[in-house]
Amino acid sequence: MVINFGAGPAKLPREVFVEVQKELLNYANTGLSVMEISHRSKDYMTLHDATLQSVRDILNLPDNYKVILLQGGATGMFAGVALNLIGRTGTADYIVTGGWSSKAAKEAAKYGKVNLVLPKVSKYTTIPGQSTWNLDPNASYVYYCDNETADGTEFPFIPETNGVPLVVDMSSNIFSRPFDITKFGVVYAGAQKNFGPAGITVVIVREDLMNHALPITPAILNFKENFAANSEYNTPPTFIIYVVGKVLEWIKRSGGIKAMYENSIKKSKMVYDRIEKSAEFYSCPIDKPYQSRMNVVFRVGGKTGDEALEAEFLKGAQALKMLQLKGHRSVGGIRASLYNAVTLEDTETLVNYMDEFLAKHKK
Ligand code: PMP
Repeated sequence: MVINFGAGPAKLPREVFVEVQKELLNYANTGLSVMEISHRSKDYMTLHDATLQSVRDILNLPDNYKVILLQGGATGMFAGVALNLIGRTGTADYIVTGGWSSKAAKEAAKYGKVNLVLPKVSKYTTIPGQSTWNLDPNASYVYYCDNETADGTEFPFIPETNGVPLVVDMSSNIFSRPFDITKFGVVYAGAQKNFGPAGITVVIVREDLMNHALPITPAILNFKENFAANSEYNTPPTFIIYVVGKVLEWIKRSGGIKAMYENSIKKSKMVYDRIEKSAEFYSCPIDKPYQSRMNVVFRVGGKTGDEALEAEFLKGAQALKMLQLKGHRSVGGIRASLYNAVTLEDTETLVNYMDEFLAKHKK
């Protein structure tokens, strides 16, 4: 069996695929595949509403937080967040700590004034302390990305914004650790890492923030209109939502978010410990407190990495059926993504391989 360490679309629980396979040709005794039933039918609406409810249950959301399912990926939300919120005061604060938050800031700048909270850097390897941030008390919202998937950094804390609504992209770490939703105005995440196939974005919006959309906001990205339509403003990606519902059920029966969190700590620690034990051979460029539990980035063959050795590392991993370990094209090196469906055993297999590769190549 192969082990998928891909950054997204990423590994999903095998049990879920088996269930999907079993039901594929005949969903809930309809005689139809879930892909071919009306999105307005009772059979579909039941699973649609159950999926929305699972998000609420797993995250323990209070009533004033609403869940919406949107298309256009997390990238759609780079525009969606600004279109829905920047109209409040016309400006927004962006805490840019990596490639994804940088893209979000650029997109938002089309719709209002974007204030960069941190000085620009050429490489993202840390998260500067809050005392250095240049926050604007008049901002419509403060935006950040909780886990920078390509760079391998993760926030170990929730930013303090002194009452300014906080907006977060949790695409690569939602459902992997508990968080206090009341600290946030908007939380959003694309499905294709921790909870489903690509094609749907979960958006959680504090109710009072639904009234600030710019007049040009397309209906398809408008929080209020999509919430009012129960995330069926147009035809939703019904099959994707069905699979997401199954993955969320799997999370619930596997111990919920607490178990996902504990596992993520164990898995990532295993790999970081392996890296640290041989710092002259494996190295992680990220400052320790900000190292991601989800995307472990590292170089092989010294601090800056030896590309030939890294290619050999990837080839050897592939031969052992460990797939999609190549780092993001913007940073190079190796990236092991350890999302919810990646097991402790999968991670052990990787660490054992790292041991062997080191033994073979250490001078
Ligand atoms: N934000 C983060 C943190 C990501 O990892 C990604 C990449 N999957 C995106 C945004 C963009 O997501 P999408 O390709 O679904 O638009």
